[in-house]
Amino acid sequence: MFQQQVDLSTYNTLALPARAEFFVTVDRVEQLAALAKHPDLAGRRRFVLGGGSNLVLTGDFSGLVVHMNLKGKSLAGEDGEHFYVAAAGGENWSDFVRWTLEQGWPGLENLSFIPGTAGAAPIQNIGAYGVEAGDFLHMVEALDLDTGRPCPFSIDDCALAYRDSLFKREGWHLSGRYAITRVIFRLPKRWRPRAAYGELAAELERGNIAQPTPAQMAAAVIALRRRKLPDPLQLPNAGSFFQNPIVSAEFAAALGEAHPTLPRYPQTDSHVKLAAGWLIEQTGWKGRNLGPVGMYEKQALVLVNRGGATFRDVQNLTRAVREAILARFGVNLVPEPVIL
Ligand code: NAP
Repeated sequence: MFQQQVDLSTYNTLALPARAEFFVTVDRVEQLAALAKHPDLAGRRRFVLGGGSNLVLTGDFSGLVVHMNLKGKSLAGEDGEHFYVAAAGGENWSDFVRWTLEQGWPGLENLSFIPGTAGAAPIQNIGAYGVEAGDFLHMVEALDLDTGRPCPFSIDDCALAYRDSLFKREGWHLSGRYAITRVIFRLPKRWRPRAAYGELAAELERGNIAQPTPAQMAAAVIALRRRKLPDPLQLPNAGSFFQNPIVSAEFAAALGEAHPTLPRYPQTDSHVKLAAGWLIEQTGWKGRNLGPVGMYEKQALVLVNRGGATFRDVQNLTRAVREAILARFGVNLVPEPVIL
C-alpha cells in the first residue's frame, strides 16, 4: 500500500531535498478511509500533500505523506442566483478555474494560474487581485484521518480570514488530521468584473478593454502572473514567501510619516495591510542572492532556489531578510508557506 523512502524533491515546487519514510498517492476517498484504520499507521505522523507549491521541507519526514490525487469536477447544483461547482481535493486549481470559465460559470477568474490543488485553496484562503477563495466558497468536505469519518465544514466553520482558516490556525494542515476531499464554490449568476487592483486595471487598459468579459479578466491575470512570477519548473520557488503584514492603523500612520511612499491598504478601521514585497525591495534584497537562494528580481516577495539549495540556505536568507526589515521598519515578517 505504501512506498518507502520516497524522494520528495519533485513534490515541492521549491525543490528542496527530503525523503518521506512512507508515501502513498490517494486516488479514491475509500483509500483515505482505509488509511485511517490501517494498524501500521496508528500513532504515526502524517502529512497531507497537495501540489507542494506552498511548502518548505526542513528535512526528511518520519511518518506518512499522503499525496492527494483525488480528481473530478462537476456542477453540484444550481438555483436562481448561483451555480454550485465542485472540485475534488487533488484537482489542479488552475485547471479547475479554467474549466469553470469554459463552462460559463465565472467568478474565480482573478484566481487564475495560482499553483496548487483545489483542496489546498481553503486552508490558506488563497487570494489574488482583490478576490479570495472565501468570497465564493460554499463548503468543504474532508475526511478525518483520525477516525476515518467524513466531515463537512460549512463556510462559517472554516472561519476564513486573510490568507488564513481554521485548518491553518489549528495546525491541522501540519498534523495531517484532515484530508480535504472536495470543495464546493457558489458562483453568482450575476457576474461583475473585479478590476480594482491597480496592476490589473492597467493591464486591461493596455489592451483597451473597458468592459472585460470573464475570459479577458482571466487572460489579464495570467499575463501579469507570467510576467512577474517564475515558473517553478524553470526556477523552483514557493510563490509569495512572506505574508503581507497587518499592523495597527497607528503604527502604519507613524511608519508612513517616516516613509512617505509606503503603500498602505486599510483592512478595517483599526488595521492596515502593508506590502511585504515593497518592504523587501526597500532593504535592497530584491534580486539579491545568499548562497543558492535569492529574492526574485521581478517580484521581491518570491524566494527562489537557483539550484541545489537546502533548507539551511532558505533559513539563512529568511533570517537575513527578516532582520533587515525589522531593523529598518520595525516590522516582523512571517513566512507564508507551510514549514514542515
Ligand atoms: P502587487 O500588485 O505588487 O501589490 C503588492 C501587494 O499590495 C499585494 O500583495 C497586494 O496585497 C497589495 N495590494 C495591491 N493593490 C491593492 C489594492 N488595490 N487593495 C489592497 N491591496 C492591494 O502584488 P503582486 O505581488 O504582484 O501580486 C498580485 C496579486 O497576486 C496579489 O493579490 C497577491 O496576493 C497575489 N499573489 C499571491 C501569491 C501567493 O502565493 N499567495 C503569489 C503571487 C501573487 P494582497 O496580496 O493582499 O492582494
